[in-house]
Amino acid sequence: MPRITVLGAGVCGLAAAMLLARDGHDVTVLERDPAPVPDTLDEALTSWERGGVAQFRQAHYVQPRGREVLEECLPDVRAALAAAGALQFNALGGMPPTIADRTPRPGDERFATITARRPVIESVLARAAQAEPGVEIRRGVAVEALTARWYDGTPHVTGARTDRGDELVGDLVVDAGGRRSALPRLLEAVGARPPLEQAEDSGFIYYTRFFRSCDGGRPESRAAPLTPMPSFSVLTLPGDNDTWSVTLYISAGDRPLKALRHAENWDAVLAACPRHAHWADAEPLTDVVPMGGVVDRYRRMVVDGEPVATGVVVLGDAWACTNPSLGRGIALGLMHARRLRDFVRYHLEHRVEMVEVWDTATEVELTPWYRATVGEDRARRAALEADRAGAAPPPPPRGDAGVLALPAARCDRRRGPLPGLPRHPLVPGAARGGPRPAGPRRARARAGPRRRPAAAPGARPRAAPRAGELIAVRRRVRPARAPPPACAIRRPRP
Ligand SMILES: Cc1cc2nc3c(=O)[nH]c(=O)nc-3n(C[C@H](O)[C@H](O)[C@H](O)COP(=O)(O)OP(=O)(O)OC[C@H]3O[C@@H](n4cnc5c(N)ncnc54)[C@H](O)[C@@H]3O)c2cc1C
Repeated sequence: MPRITVLGAGVCGLAAAMLLARDGHDVTVLERDPAPVPDTLDEALTSWERGGVAQFRQAHYVQPRGREVLEECLPDVRAALAAAGALQFNALGGMPPTIADRTPRPGDERFATITARRPVIESVLARAAQAEPGVEIRRGVAVEALTARWYDGTPHVTGARTDRGDELVGDLVVDAGGRRSALPRLLEAVGARPPLEQAEDSGFIYYTRFFRSCDGGRPESRAAPLTPMPSFSVLTLPGDNDTWSVTLYISAGDRPLKALRHAENWDAVLAACPRHAHWADAEPLTDVVPMGGVVDRYRRMVVDGEPVATGVVVLGDAWACTNPSLGRGIALGLMHARRLRDFVRYHLEHRVEMVEVWDTATEVELTPWYRATVGEDRARRAALEADRAGAAPPPPPRGDAGVLALPAARCDRRRGPLPGLPRHPLVPGAARGGPRPAGPRRARARAGPRRRPAAAPGARPRAAPRAGELIAVRRRVRPARAPPPACAIRRPRP
């Protein structure tokens, strides 16, 4: 029976392990984090130590394509997620009121997903993988080195050596070590050429809070799930068991806005967003959870037309990871895992082809998503930086990138940011296309204080106040507000 070693028991490593084992392979998963999978969801949510996944406590949402892979390939996991309280959710049902035509159309069902907080998703998957015949998961075991043989000047990875001194020999090593995967260092140590790597700091900092509904309902959508404001973005994501998250994210260069890490500032800024304030009318489950230093990184094992090594492939975030504001990582990783299962069926015995064909398939099917997300990041960063400098907004990005980046281009004077779904929702069978910026872009009025130029006559008012101003104003005029009592629903805002 072919033996496969998977490095990393994150969402993608676990899904790949199950798919490969169900195809008749003997799979060992090595996971550096020692903590066992908690027995209960509560423990997973509160005390599961997952230091290897920095974003473990951040907001997560599964795009519809992820649901499709689960339904097709791991229906038991999908059922277990539902049983654990994951939300069966169709984004089209949450269209903001500004979309008048809500008539269902054929194909709407493609937008359905099943989504939950990250510890819920991962613990469900981990329990299923643990029970899967053909999968062995060793936790608290880090891969320290690869073993290799050389053919025609290229190393062929034959296995992995762990920090406990064990050596696992097999037919394939799958690197699912996540965004901090050590594969380049491990390959260098066996004498391989470096993989192609492109990386840049996405330049954002996230400030997330989780809430639980007090009445079993979910807040009404009055704006798109990801709404760009002039100096920050708001991301509202539904979760499992009547929970949801609200993330405010900013440019990492905007020092005053780092005050959002304090709950009172975070609350004040959200309260000043007319279309989002009601998302905090619930029981807060967490304080503000900050995260920065999120890198957009992409790796390729075929360089100048030749594999840098054979016997090893990269999967999920170890292949490419991005700023997560579009929530694509898990869906892409699940698609990648399904594709890996298919390729292993036909190419496992073909040393060079396995890597080359994997590289080509990844380039064709997944890399466009990566590039589109990086394009969005760059455009959004440019818009935030221009706002921070009091400069005119940057020109509209070309092509597909950046359609979510520019609030000014999508604002209606009376109604605020126009609603819209991402142009390339990760929806099964979705064609390209979607809402486009409304009308020609104009210079925005900048009536703000200090270095900001005076508002031009006839220019548009801002769709939302600057968060920095809100924090400053709040500090001057309002005493700190006591946190709302658990489950005390505040007066609905107009
Ligand atoms: C702030 C933030 C929010 C996000 N939100 C979303 C979202 O809403 N929706 C979405 O789809 N995606 C989201 N993502 C992306 C998503 O978290 C990742 O795409 C996903 O975790 C990738 O899974 P993975 O299995 O490839 O890697 P990971 O989940 O990172 O798992 C990698 C595992 O490998 C282990 N490991 C690493 N090195 C070794 C080693 N040498 N030996 C043994 N084990 C090792 C690590 O301990 C870890 O457990 C978000 C990411 C961030 C940063």
